Amino acid sequence: MGHRLALLCGRVLTMTGREPEGPQVVEIVEGQIEVVRPLREVAPERLPAMLDLSRFTVLPGLIDAHSHLELDVMAGNEALQVQASDAALALRAAAHAAVNLRHGVTTMRLVGEKNFIDVPLRQMIDAGHLPGPRLVTATRGLRPSNGHSVTAVTVDGVEAVVRAVRENLFRGADLVKLFVTGGVATPTTDPVTPCFSREEIAAAVAVAHQAGKPVCAHAYGGAGVDFCLDAGVDHIEHGTYMRPDQFDRLAELGRWLVGTLGVFLTEPGPAENPSWPEPVRQKFLRAREATPRVIAEAKRAGVKLALGTDAIHGRVAEEAIYAAAAGLTNREALAAITCNAAELCGLTGRVGVIAPGAWADLIAVEGDPLRDLRALRSPALVMKGGEVVQATAPLAPAVASGG
Ligand SMILES: [Zn+2]
Repeated sequence: MGHRLALLCGRVLTMTGREPEGPQVVEIVEGQIEVVRPLREVAPERLPAMLDLSRFTVLPGLIDAHSHLELDVMAGNEALQVQASDAALALRAAAHAAVNLRHGVTTMRLVGEKNFIDVPLRQMIDAGHLPGPRLVTATRGLRPSNGHSVTAVTVDGVEAVVRAVRENLFRGADLVKLFVTGGVATPTTDPVTPCFSREEIAAAVAVAHQAGKPVCAHAYGGAGVDFCLDAGVDHIEHGTYMRPDQFDRLAELGRWLVGTLGVFLTEPGPAENPSWPEPVRQKFLRAREATPRVIAEAKRAGVKLALGTDAIHGRVAEEAIYAAAAGLTNREALAAITCNAAELCGLTGRVGVIAPGAWADLIAVEGDPLRDLRALRSPALVMKGGEVVQATAPLAPAVASGG
């Protein structure tokens, strides 16, 4: 028998579609959940050895499905941020990883980091040398010369695209990220103008799919989204200006939309930050107007949806709060940063749920997030792989049993 731990939980939100009533005991063995059972089925003499979370609702650790660890979008102009050395960017990324974990983000999907700085960071986190979420990463994003992104590698033409995708996969990419349309944060690009060609997108998809990896595309709307859907791109990031028929087609194809809400809806946010050039601030303001409609359209069309902060560290709870304000139920919004995001990341059943076989990545919060998502803002406890990584409340000591 390995290291065992039992949590006495006031309530558990499993996010598996079936929520148990009343106090539950979550049994953890070697960092994985073995069983969730009602307290009444557990021998009373075991109680003193349990970690007492009876005042809290316990739910899966949160997943930020779109972020960049080396950047902080609330800190101002990203073109200035990335002038730092790669060493400085890597250290900043490590600091942001720790912030995310402390706020209950136990898994992050990274969609473009500069010069592979995330690869050694992920190794350090996985080895237990640095605190941070589990990382699912695209490593370097790919952009064409006329495209968006201050961190991506610039590639033009099918041959260069193929070479860069292959190198990313060789270095350990879990997915491939293409900056297909222009963006908001670069002054000279337009979010609905395609920059990569159909041929370049199709070439990247062919190489990635041959390796069994999905492709995601930064695509706000316009013909670039059509190019992506035609070419077999699996995940559309942002989608802020997509047409209703594009939402419908995304749903029919069973592919994903990853919404980024807080980056536009937070006030004051980038639109109010004078370090960005004026044309960028205007684009942030226009995107703020359009953003709630993304959620309403995704819900109408039945699109598979996950949410990400786009580099607002530790604030993924706000994504769910904004999504609920835009029309999702609280459960749907919570799913977009837990179980649904896990499926997007290819980690179905391992993260994003409290269920046998999942890693013991969980948070304990006061109140009921299904009634009020603001309960997610300040977890009293964060656990990753069965280790308590953050606790703000006094907790009964856990005593190992068995062994
Ligand atoms: Zn992004």
